[in-house]
Amino acid sequence: MGMIKRIAIFGSTGSIGTQALEVIEANPDKFSVEILTANSNETLLVEQAIKYNPNIVVIGDELKYTKVKEALANTSVKVFAGEDALKEVAGMDCYDLMLAAIVGFAGLKPTLKAIENKKAIALANKETLVVAGDIVMQKAIENRVPIIPVDSEHSAIFQCLMGETRNRVEKVYLTASGGPFIGRKPNYLVNVKREHALQHPNWEMGAKISVDSATLMNKGLEMIEAKWLFNLKPDQIEVLVHPQSAIHSMVQFEDGSIKAQIGVPDMKLPIQYALAFPARIPNNYPRFSFKKFNEFTFEEPDIKTFKNLALAIEALQKGGNLACIMNAANEIAVYAFLKNRLGFLEMTDVIEKVMGEVKFIDKPTLEDYFDSDADARTLAADIIRL
Ligand code: NAD
Ligand code: MG
Repeated sequence: MGMIKRIAIFGSTGSIGTQALEVIEANPDKFSVEILTANSNETLLVEQAIKYNPNIVVIGDELKYTKVKEALANTSVKVFAGEDALKEVAGMDCYDLMLAAIVGFAGLKPTLKAIENKKAIALANKETLVVAGDIVMQKAIENRVPIIPVDSEHSAIFQCLMGETRNRVEKVYLTASGGPFIGRKPNYLVNVKREHALQHPNWEMGAKISVDSATLMNKGLEMIEAKWLFNLKPDQIEVLVHPQSAIHSMVQFEDGSIKAQIGVPDMKLPIQYALAFPARIPNNYPRFSFKKFNEFTFEEPDIKTFKNLALAIEALQKGGNLACIMNAANEIAVYAFLKNRLGFLEMTDVIEKVMGEVKFIDKPTLEDYFDSDADARTLAADIIRL
C-alpha cells in the first residue's frame, strides 16, 4: 500500500480538470483532492467542493468570492479569490502534486510557484512551456521536481522514453489528428465560424484548444512543448498527420528503432498516468481494438493552408521570446474568433503581424517574458480593434 497522493487541480472546472476528478474519484485509495481552482464557473466549483471536500478552493473572479464563500459556509473548505491567491495557494504545503490544467498564459505563475515549492507537476497547460520553457525546465531541475506531461502526445513520448535514460533520441514523431478541417483549403476556411471549429472529430476539449486544433496552432505549441520537455533540437521534431488518433506519438532512437504508444483517444488515460506516475493503475475503460481501427494512415501537415503551424515552426527555430509573443497574439486572436470578432484565417494575419513587431529578445529573463506577453496582447488587441 502506497501513501495517498494529495492533488491540487488548478483549473478544476475545465475539460482536463473534470476528467481528472473522475480519475481521482475512481481511485480513492490513491488520491485525495486538496485544492480546486476555477476562473469564473463558481457553480461548478461549489458543486465540486461539496462533492470532493478539498482543503481549499480558489475562484479567480473576485466578484464571485462572496457567492462561493456563502455556498460553502457549512463546510470546512477555505475559500480564496483572485489571481494572486492562485500563486499564494500554489505555495502552500497541503498538497503533493499540482495538475496544471488552467488554459493559457494564466497558468504560468501558479505553476512556477509550485515548482519553487518543490511540488511535482502534472502538466496539461502547454502554454507554460511555450512561453517560458527554458526557465520552467531549469527551475524544475534546480528544485528536483518532475514535470510529467498530460498532453497525450507528450505522455506518449514520455512513456516511450521509460527505461531509455542513457539512450539518445534521434527524433520524435508528434502525431496530429488534423483537426476538423483536415483537407480543407483557404476558400473553405475563410467562412468557418466558431461552431464548426469547436467540433473536433476525436477529442472533446475546452474552447481555446479546440480552435488551436482546428488551425493546427495546437500542434505548433506542442512542438515547442516537446522541445523543452525532452530537450530536443527543432529538427528532431516531426509532425505526422494521423487522423485515427490511435498512435499518440513515437520516438525513434539512434539504432533506427521506433517506439509508439497506442491507445483509445481518451484524455483520462494520460491524466491517470501523470497522476499515478511512475505506477500504472488498472481501470475498466474500453480497450483499443485493432479490428475496429484496422488502418493507420499518415500524411504531411498542410502548412501552406494552416499557416499557424508554419508560424509556430518559425518560433520554435528562432527561440528567444518569439514563442511567447506568438502565444500571446494567438490567445487574443482565438478569443476574438470565439466572439465572432475575427475570421478564421485572419487569426494568422494578427499573429504574424505581432510576431514581426514586438521586440525580439534572444535570451529573455522571466520579466522579459511577462513584458513580451503584455506587449503582444496590447498590439494584437489594437490590430483587431478590440
Ligand atoms: P478549459 O477551457 O476546458 O478549462 C480551463 C480551466 O482553466 C477552467 O477550470 C477555467 O476556470 C480555468 N481558467 C481559465 N482561464 C483562467 C484564468 N485566467 N485564471 C485562472 N484560471 C483560469 O480548458 P482545457 O481543455 O481543460 O485545457 C486546459 C489546458 O490543458 C490547456 O492548456 C490545454 O491546452 C491543455 N490540454 C487540454 C486537452 C484537452 O483534451 N482538453 C488536451 C491536451 C492539453
Ligand atoms: Mg495534444
